Amino acid sequence: MKRLALLLELSATVALLISPSTASAASDAVPAHKEPAATAKDAKGLVSVSSMSASDYDACVADLTSKGIVFEPVREVWEEGCQLSGAIKLAAVATPFGNVSIAGKPAMLCSFGRLFSNWVRDVGAPLTLAYTGQKLTEIEAGQAFSCRARYDKPGAVPSEHAKGNAIDIASFVLADNRRILVKRQDSQIPLAADLVHALRMTACGYFTTVLGPGSDPAHEEHLHFDAAVHGATPNYRICE
Ligand SMILES: [Zn+2]
Repeated sequence: MKRLALLLELSATVALLISPSTASAASDAVPAHKEPAATAKDAKGLVSVSSMSASDYDACVADLTSKGIVFEPVREVWEEGCQLSGAIKLAAVATPFGNVSIAGKPAMLCSFGRLFSNWVRDVGAPLTLAYTGQKLTEIEAGQAFSCRARYDKPGAVPSEHAKGNAIDIASFVLADNRRILVKRQDSQIPLAADLVHALRMTACGYFTTVLGPGSDPAHEEHLHFDAAVHGATPNYRICE
């Protein structure tokens, strides 16, 4: 794992050395994606720049800090074809029922990190405790920021992941270390399926797009939340 991280860092540094236009982002420009080869392929021809203003970012960072959120204010995150300005790496969300760590510390826009943290604190943690009698201790998130097109179709529009505006969730981990998978299965945990359903439905109040098992073949094993604006206002939802 250390060797992989070093390789990623090296490749980012080399890429930046031959790309002077992004040199200003060098200090924090470590790709967040775990599969650089696949990313480069998927990102072919894809260009996405997503940002927050400096004042919005500073206000967002202050807000997260005041709420006890554990994160790295990396600000700039870069992947081939995609640039995020105003990014954080989200490590844990403080809730009235203890901290919920976010596996892999995914990178995302601070604004999305705030939205996701609100959902974890207000809904994710209390619902999990109510349904299982166990505290939620970890969310196993897949990619948040990832430079790829929607449904990985080359030439298609950039995914909200490419904008740092989305997260994928594979499972929820309880205090007794049992895992509730999003993927449909016969769980040993009573009410696990009901809990995943409830978490998914409540997410529609926070996020503008919520997809999961049954939505389409690409989402059979994870929940996808994003904050894309689909219409004239952010009120329109894709909640499937
Ligand atoms: Zn997704």
